[in-house]
Amino acid sequence: MEQITIALPSPAAGTTRSLNYLRFGQPGQGPKAYIQAALHADELPGMLVAQHLRQQLSALEQQGALLGEVILVPAANPIGLAQTLLGTSQGRFDLRTGQNFNRQFQNLSQDVWQRVLPQLGADAQLNQQLIRTAIRASLQDPQRDQAAYDELSAQRLALMRLAADADVVLDLHCDCESLLHLYTGTPLWERVAPLAGLLGASVALLETESGDDPFDEACSRIWWDIAALAGATFPIPLACLAVTIELRGFIDVDHAIAGRDAAAIVDFLRLQGVLAGPLSQAVPAACAPTPLAGCMPLTAPVAGLVVYLRELGATVRAGEPLIELIDPVSGSVQQLLAPVDGLYFARENRRYVAPGTRLSKVAGKLALRSGALLSA
Ligand SMILES: [Zn+2]
Repeated sequence: MEQITIALPSPAAGTTRSLNYLRFGQPGQGPKAYIQAALHADELPGMLVAQHLRQQLSALEQQGALLGEVILVPAANPIGLAQTLLGTSQGRFDLRTGQNFNRQFQNLSQDVWQRVLPQLGADAQLNQQLIRTAIRASLQDPQRDQAAYDELSAQRLALMRLAADADVVLDLHCDCESLLHLYTGTPLWERVAPLAGLLGASVALLETESGDDPFDEACSRIWWDIAALAGATFPIPLACLAVTIELRGFIDVDHAIAGRDAAAIVDFLRLQGVLAGPLSQAVPAACAPTPLAGCMPLTAPVAGLVVYLRELGATVRAGEPLIELIDPVSGSVQQLLAPVDGLYFARENRRYVAPGTRLSKVAGKLALRSGALLSA
């Protein structure tokens, strides 16, 4: 294992931060997996999973079981990790710009397409190598460094440079209170399903364009975008399995759970040929996937005290009461109803909220929404 530090540009005179990552195996040897935790810096279950992965991968490396390369970034957002406001961690939005740390990653599709178009041919494997080389060249272009002069842009660029040429990209997040769920590209589902089964995911949300360029999609969409541009002319494999894994809720930081999650990820890396050896368990069946556009939020229309009427994991019917929103001054009570039939899988952890707060999510089967599909 090698520990590597990337310096970020100074945000203020006399002050610097750095991004740190671990490398297991050799670059360019075998398949590459990239795993990061806490891009939303206050989402900590993934940070503990990374700690377990560090131990498991170190042992596997010593046993000679590493067939490929694994990059592990245990704290992917040092900027957000240092943000505390009045005693509360602020890890989702950059306090300087208001930007969500997991949005606005580089969309490389057009640039990579222009670079590879003259070279593409009839061999899918060769096309894959050419596209990977073009991805690296696009990200190493000095113009990108010039544009990434501030700390946040430089952090995004550094993460993309570590991840975008990988075969497997796993971005570890969590929700407020939730069951374990995944986001991934629609065309990747069949190959991601074993991971969903191993992790025991309750929900898998599929989309090809979620809006606002989250990290996983910035890595994986290059391949289906180029496949669409190439049409029937050139065979283009979907060579980056990128998944955002929501490891339950904020407070689900527990050794037993994190150990199981890490073991599931290690098994998936065995399935992908990154690690040698037999799986620690048979791969359980995955949940049925649903469209991200069918994941329906339930928003508070007024301020109030929140009382949940159903537990997470409930299968609910449209129109069924899920939440009571109580105005403690007037005593009025408003019931919020399930927006669709589906699985009730995530909810807000605060119990008094302002108008407009997203309180719950129900995963339905029908794609009902359009436009930007992720929450702020
Ligand atoms: Zn997150």
